[in-house]
Amino acid sequence: MIWYPYEQMKNMKAPYKIIKAKGVHLYTEDQELIDSVSSWWCMIHGYQHPELTAAIQEQAANFCHVMLGGLTHDPVEKLSAKLEEFLPGDLNYCFFSDSGSVAVEVALKMALQYNTNQCDDHPEMKKRTLILALEHAYHGDTFKAMEVGDDEDYHFAFDKKEGVVHIPTEIPALEEAFALYHDKLNCFIVEPLLQGAGGMRMYDISFLKRARELCDEYGVLLIFDEVATGFGRTGNRFVADLVLPDILVLGKALTGGYIGHAVTVANEKVFRGFYSDNERHALMHGPTFMGNALACAVALKGIEIFERENYMEKIKKIEEISKREMLGFSDGRIKEVRVMGGCTCVEVYDPKTLEGFQQYAYERGVFSRPFLSYMYSMVPYVIEEDELVQVFTVMKDWFRRG
Ligand SMILES: *Cc1c(COP(=O)(O)O)cnc(C)c1O
Repeated sequence: MIWYPYEQMKNMKAPYKIIKAKGVHLYTEDQELIDSVSSWWCMIHGYQHPELTAAIQEQAANFCHVMLGGLTHDPVEKLSAKLEEFLPGDLNYCFFSDSGSVAVEVALKMALQYNTNQCDDHPEMKKRTLILALEHAYHGDTFKAMEVGDDEDYHFAFDKKEGVVHIPTEIPALEEAFALYHDKLNCFIVEPLLQGAGGMRMYDISFLKRARELCDEYGVLLIFDEVATGFGRTGNRFVADLVLPDILVLGKALTGGYIGHAVTVANEKVFRGFYSDNERHALMHGPTFMGNALACAVALKGIEIFERENYMEKIKKIEEISKREMLGFSDGRIKEVRVMGGCTCVEVYDPKTLEGFQQYAYERGVFSRPFLSYMYSMVPYVIEEDELVQVFTVMKDWFRRG
């Protein structure tokens, strides 16, 4: 029997069974649905994209996977070279892994060991193990990722959070945290501009600019978890294009959603912290499926399409339509409507307001998955205007029906 995610198995509603998927559409026996969630935000090019499918098929005809320990291959070499060119600044050192959560673990491990390595070489330095994170953060479901996360609705069962300080996305709180803890702080991990699973919370770039300044001033590493925001979701290619982190984590859309894969990308400074004659300074990590050849082949093709088809223009258009359709829509039950890039969120006061919405949307040709008090869309970037309007119409009609 399948054990489904985030569900009380005893009373979970039967999932919709998908028999086919193409473009922005999912198909069940009796319905054609626009996937307004992009399969947990990753399916940016849509389903069954001929070039992405071909990239996987061609690689599979050669080999699907070889380990990266002591071996290398064309797809991983090409993807790493491509990311080096595609990503801003000196974010040039790609450590691959099989999922976003693992890539976050790697980032934190990198940051912590960076400091340990430094202390090895400079005995006068004090160890720094404290991690700064955001309130309502979500960084994945593995333990260290959960420790830096801050969402009771996911993590109420585990509440040990020694070694992590959470702050709101407000500059005074940020400055206060640095004033209090700067000599203990190892790194600051954030979902930049858009906090996804914590409730599609959007905040201003000025917060990240100030964070960069403070991190520089106090020698604290800045980590951007762009597993969700990377590849255009916020209306920026990467938030890292605006403020440069020391370590960048990408996942979800990296492979266009075709296969699970992720990457932790370090800058020159972080990489140099491991590059030494001391064997103990090596990064001791290596997921079995890191650098998987199918994943690398499809990621490469996905980035090629992203650039060639000018996805940033498509996302700008999505944002314009979203604002036109949704901003200004109001109802007594709605707390706030917010739009950023390819993400729209309707936050209600009472989660009960959204009960039944998923089925309502299903019957009107839209797949949606509201959670807690958030109704949202994170559409595939290949969506047509009339399809996007349909998604928003269904959202608005839910409130208009009385
Ligand atoms: C989804 C997500 C993760 C976890 O990625 P998985 O591939 O599900 O392990 C980590 N960080 C953020 C910001 C995410 O949205």
